[in-house]
Amino acid sequence: MQVINPANGAIVTEILSDNAEQVREKIEKLRKGQPAWFELSVEERLAILLKFGKLVEANLDELAVILTQETGKPLQQSINEIRGANNRLVHLEANALKWLASEDMVTEGATKERIAYEPLGVVANISAWNFPYNVGYNVFLYALVAGNSVIYKPSEFASLTGMKFRELLWRAGVPENVFECIFGTGEVGQLLLEADLDGYFFTGSYNTGKYIATQVAPKLVPVQLELGGKDPLYIMDDVFDVKQAAINAAEGAFYNNGQSCCAVERIYVHESVYDEFVNYFVEEVKSYKVGDPMNKTTFIGPLTRQPQVGILEEQVQDALLKGAELKCGGYSLDREGYYFAPTVLSAVNHQMEVMKEESFGPIIGIQKVANDEEALSLMKDTTYGLTAAVFSANKGRALDLLDQLSVGTVYWNCCDRVSPNVPWSGRKNSGLGSTLSYQGIRAFVQPKAYHLRD
Ligand code: NAD
Repeated sequence: MQVINPANGAIVTEILSDNAEQVREKIEKLRKGQPAWFELSVEERLAILLKFGKLVEANLDELAVILTQETGKPLQQSINEIRGANNRLVHLEANALKWLASEDMVTEGATKERIAYEPLGVVANISAWNFPYNVGYNVFLYALVAGNSVIYKPSEFASLTGMKFRELLWRAGVPENVFECIFGTGEVGQLLLEADLDGYFFTGSYNTGKYIATQVAPKLVPVQLELGGKDPLYIMDDVFDVKQAAINAAEGAFYNNGQSCCAVERIYVHESVYDEFVNYFVEEVKSYKVGDPMNKTTFIGPLTRQPQVGILEEQVQDALLKGAELKCGGYSLDREGYYFAPTVLSAVNHQMEVMKEESFGPIIGIQKVANDEEALSLMKDTTYGLTAAVFSANKGRALDLLDQLSVGTVYWNCCDRVSPNVPWSGRKNSGLGSTLSYQGIRAFVQPKAYHLRD
């Protein structure tokens, strides 16, 4: 399998995809290794994972270059991601022991009752390329600390990063029969669905996630899906500072080239501040430095996957045919690599693909609304349910609206944000189950109830 640099289309390296026999052998090895891993104490497992975190820190520069080479993520954003993902370890260090400890529920009387948390066993972590550290850590670190062994399948667009995870986890002391990787495209991932695993934890697109859930359903093991979104942001008329709101909203839409699961994907603006907001927003987007992702000052690099360039072109054409106004961008750049100019469309509506389908690129539609009711009804008009944001000076008014949305995460005066303190989950076509917080660790254990009579 070729690893392609999206910034210039060059082959970075070639790696071997796993075949069915190798996948089978790796799973067998993990099955053998898991019980001894669980026999270690939580503290011992945690100490090894914290060492992994230190190794990542020590190799930050090299790891960031690898991530940028294979995904096109601007170097500074690769560094930010790798550093930021470490907050999962900080959080686990503070909480894992408490979350995994047995709980005595009834301690008086003849029959005592207790809950113990046991690992699932061998779990699959089928992952995405857009934030491989964040979404990888959310699964494999939490699964490992809970005593599972993990078969990790990096996205075919982040294989080299996956190899580094394996190398550094092994170096930190995770046994080779407790964490393994398989490499390849979806066909290799498919081999995991045919295997006999104890849990499937998937991050990726709705279509693949739905397929995996249906394939795995007869096994009656936990399946968790972190899928895409079409996340709305609404600017109310009373917003503190229109310019600052525009700057923050633009960053939420364009960070990581718009390739974030919780990127702002559509914006609604109250008519009284609409023109002002659009002007500031376009000014901000025009100021973004587009170019070589290896340059630390670049904010917009290439898209990771070439076909996405065509999808964005189609969304622009569709919007323009239906009456949108192109404020900037709208075209792929005439240079090597998979570049698309940062694009802002105004005067959009829900007849247009750009307001309905996940764009996953540097493009945004901004729609004018007359009042909160109209904004709410448009925000609800989606099959997804990942996040939603409202910018307003009035917390009560913002929360009144956010409380009415069926999404896993809501933001007031912020957006495009994930924290290990609170669960990360999608509703409807954005997924099933949670990672992060205590909910995210309980995903990797099964409870056992003890009824103990003296
Ligand atoms: P994708 O669905 O194309 O691929 C995800 C993974 O599934 C890859 O490793 C791929 O090889 C594997 N795969 C594909 N077909 C398979 C099959 N039949 N069996 C087993 N595995 C298979 O998604 P992607 O392009 O890597 O990721 C982008 C998507 O992920 C976007 O929709 C984004 O919103 C979503 N995402 C969601 C979150 C979240 O937390 N909700 C986080 C990051 C990304």
